[in-house]
Amino acid sequence: MKIVFATNNPNKIKEVQAQLPEQIALLSLADIGCFEDIPETSPTIEGNAIQKATYIKKNYGYDCFADDTGLEVDALDGAPGVFSARYAGEQKNADDNMKKLLAELKEKTNRKAQFKTVIALILNGNTQSFTGICKGTILKEKKGTQGFGYDPIFQPEGFDLAFAEMTLEQKNTIGHRGKAVQKLIDYLNKMK
Ligand code: IMP
Repeated sequence: MKIVFATNNPNKIKEVQAQLPEQIALLSLADIGCFEDIPETSPTIEGNAIQKATYIKKNYGYDCFADDTGLEVDALDGAPGVFSARYAGEQKNADDNMKKLLAELKEKTNRKAQFKTVIALILNGNTQSFTGICKGTILKEKKGTQGFGYDPIFQPEGFDLAFAEMTLEQKNTIGHRGKAVQKLIDYLNKMK
C-alpha cells in the first residue's frame, strides 16, 4: 500500500517510515508533484490536519495523512495554539516566537503548557484523527540547542531538561508528535 504523508519535512518522513510495516510505503508531497502551499485556515489544530489531508485526497487522489501541532499555554487561554508557527508574525521565526511568549508570561505565575499534535488520516474513504499530548511548563529562559521551534523553553512534566536538551529519541518517546505517530502506526499495523 502507498500512502502520502502531507509534509515537506524529510526528517518526519524518515522517522515515520522507519516505524511502519514494510508493505506500507510513504510518499512525500514532492513524490506526488505537490509543490504548492496547502491551505491551513482552520481555527483548530485538528481542523488544520483534516484540511491538509482532505486537500491532498481531493486534488491528487491519494490516501494520505497530515499532521498539525500547536503549543497551548494555560495562562494565555490556549494561545498560541493553532497560531504557534506565526505567533510573532508571518516570518515564522522561532526566536521571535519564543521572545514574544516569554514576554507575555513575564508577570504570570502559572507557566503550565502543553504541545498537541493531531494526525488526520484519510484511508479507504474514512477520516480518522490521532492525538498526542505532552504536558509541561514554559521555562523563564532558553536552554539547550537540539530540536526546533519552542523546544528551548519547553520542559516536559517529570523532567529537569528542556526538549532542546534531549536527544531526538528521548523527545520522540515522551513527545506529542511521537505519541500521535505511535497511535497512527498501531492503527495501520492492524490493517496488515
Ligand atoms: P507544525 O504543525 O508541525 O508545522 O508546527 C507548528 C509550529 O509549532 C512550528 O512552527 C513550531 O513553532 C511549533 N512546534 C511544532 N512542533 C514542535 C516541537 O516538537 N517542538 C517545538 N515547537 C514545535
